[in-house]
Amino acid sequence: MNRTVSRRMMAAWLKEVGVDCVLRPSPGAETLDDIRGELTDCRRCPLCAGRATIVFGVGNPRARLMFVGEGPGSEEDRLGEPFVGAAGKRLDRWIARIGLRREDVYIANIVKCRPPGNRAPLPDEAKACLPYLLRQIRAVRPEIVCTLGATALNFLLGVEAKITRERGKWRERDGVPVLPTYHPAFILRDAARETEVFEDFDALASRLRLPPAK
Ligand code: URA
Repeated sequence: MNRTVSRRMMAAWLKEVGVDCVLRPSPGAETLDDIRGELTDCRRCPLCAGRATIVFGVGNPRARLMFVGEGPGSEEDRLGEPFVGAAGKRLDRWIARIGLRREDVYIANIVKCRPPGNRAPLPDEAKACLPYLLRQIRAVRPEIVCTLGATALNFLLGVEAKITRERGKWRERDGVPVLPTYHPAFILRDAARETEVFEDFDALASRLRLPPAK
């Protein structure tokens, strides 16, 4: 028996089981390591003065789902990884709720260096860092980007929107669907709004056709 499966048969079978497309890195495409390499000792904005570490991003370099937050806090600055403090623990819970682990997704921020006193990044700081985030999105090629909080939504999409009005509404950046939801730090202060985040995560799971979480 000829056991070779032709590309066409494989494509037909994948379509039947619900896989629309298979993403392969195009030859010569930029990798996350290429981008990271350009940021060593970055001095493109004043945030470099107060940072301990450049918090580049973490997770699966082929993630189907990518999260974008605002900027590193003190724990993230110390450890070099986004969302490792209290807000990060809450984000991990939301990710687990849809049956994924932190290692399955990719997590980054609008700025890679900690703004002083945990303030939001200033427009010039976000402008200096945004090209690297956009290149990370291009390298990972997620099916969906989920922005966390108003700062991530507004800087990623170049809008001035209110998160309370815009969360849960699908947008797009460079052809990638974007779903804004609340920042986990906001939910730590206003727990009543977490049901809206659950709705948004259900929408993410449904668009990614994830099996119901156990
Ligand atoms: N808040 C963010 O927006 N990003 C982090 O990495 C941590 C807290």
